[in-house]
Amino acid sequence: MSKFTSLSDTQAAISTGKITCLALVEHYLERIEATRHLNIYIEVYEAEARQRAKELDEKFAQDPASVGGLFGAVISLKDVICYAKHEVTAGSKILKGFKSLFSATAVERLLAEDAIIIGRVNCDEFAMGSTNETSCYGPTRNAADPTKVPGGSSGASAVSVQAGTCLASIGSDTGGSVRQPAAFCGVVGFKPTYGRISRHGLLAYASSFDQIGILANNPKDAALLLEVMAGPDEFDATCSKRPVEAYSEFNFDKPAKIAYFETALNHPGMDEGVKKLTFDFIEKLKKAGHSVEPVAFDYLDFIIPAYYVLTTAEASSNLSRYDGIRFGHRTVGAKDIHEVYKKSRTEGFGTEVKRRIMLGTFVLSAGYYDAYFAKAQQVRRLILERTEEVLQNVNFILMPASPTPAWNIGEMADDPVAMYLADIFTVQANMVGMPAIALPIGQHSCGLPVGVQLMAGKFQEAELLSFAAGLENE
Ligand code: GLN
Repeated sequence: MSKFTSLSDTQAAISTGKITCLALVEHYLERIEATRHLNIYIEVYEAEARQRAKELDEKFAQDPASVGGLFGAVISLKDVICYAKHEVTAGSKILKGFKSLFSATAVERLLAEDAIIIGRVNCDEFAMGSTNETSCYGPTRNAADPTKVPGGSSGASAVSVQAGTCLASIGSDTGGSVRQPAAFCGVVGFKPTYGRISRHGLLAYASSFDQIGILANNPKDAALLLEVMAGPDEFDATCSKRPVEAYSEFNFDKPAKIAYFETALNHPGMDEGVKKLTFDFIEKLKKAGHSVEPVAFDYLDFIIPAYYVLTTAEASSNLSRYDGIRFGHRTVGAKDIHEVYKKSRTEGFGTEVKRRIMLGTFVLSAGYYDAYFAKAQQVRRLILERTEEVLQNVNFILMPASPTPAWNIGEMADDPVAMYLADIFTVQANMVGMPAIALPIGQHSCGLPVGVQLMAGKFQEAELLSFAAGLENE
């Protein structure tokens, strides 16, 4: 069976009788088996996916008009998204064995439109990392070159799409976790505006940054999935009440005005090959009639420090719930309650998560709060104001998705700060709560995929996705 790279192709093949949902699921299960060495899936819902496919085939046979908009969409879920009665562990020993009692709102909406969930995929522990190596299940490998990381934290989500084991994957993006792995793996990664998709049922890392995001083969599929998952939700007070637009209708066809930050493209950390591909892409945009101009942005080097102060602070608070009492792992033989907390957390969390909890606790502590946390909040505000100012004159801001192509497995292990610094281009969208998309733009001379990123103003996802879809035809 050939690879189905879009939902519309898949649905056309089902409607014309070329395949059934069940055959499609069998195809993906075979792909999952054939790519076991990449360590993508933590759990595959084989029997369930087959059963659901059979039921959907019957529903379709009885009345083709009765099936939902995501009929034929086979989807993987990052291990931070709750699915009722299924395990969810955030790639962490501390949650091993924990089954969710409810489904994330986003998952419920996917299921209501007849999507099939095929399995749970690996990720960095509590979504903290850029390589997928902090997972307690071991690293996932990049399908373009298994000696390389897939990026992170939604690394396995990206590879699940890259390796053709599903149509799309639902990930999460706190500082680039959907867009950077998409770029490393040559797929599309989309993070909506903060509050566009409910966070109910998404295990929290840093709540004022976290958003559910989509990894797909093309912007159209991302738009279709967004349409289904977006919208108000009484279980998430930060979820926007704005009506959901028809994101997949794609009616942005005017020449776009695009800005890029000179400080970003000429940043000393930029790999020459990535830089060249990015400038080639800019030329292509200009030839197609779009305007692409450099603008000043003086805050680039403040983004990472502010992000790591704020997110670790929020994480230290969010992760305090994993105490050995309420969820997951509990140490054995502790003498008192403090020892239960201490030992359960010491045994359950990995190194990177511990580092962040300690850093976050430190920046929130009395005496340091004003110097770090309050200061970082001020920086966040300045970055928001400047970003909004730039977007008053242009439709989009263009940025690399990552300063380099995918690293070797193990390359970042001993240098967390180098790993943090590599998030320089993706965290801005989360700092300011704006939507952003990573798109593949070509192959580096080393053979690995390279992506570019486009960011738009808040709730401009229709414009952003439409423009991104149009680029595929140029
Ligand atoms: N790499 C970033 C971090 O480790 C982003 C992670 C994410 O978006 N979840 O914080």
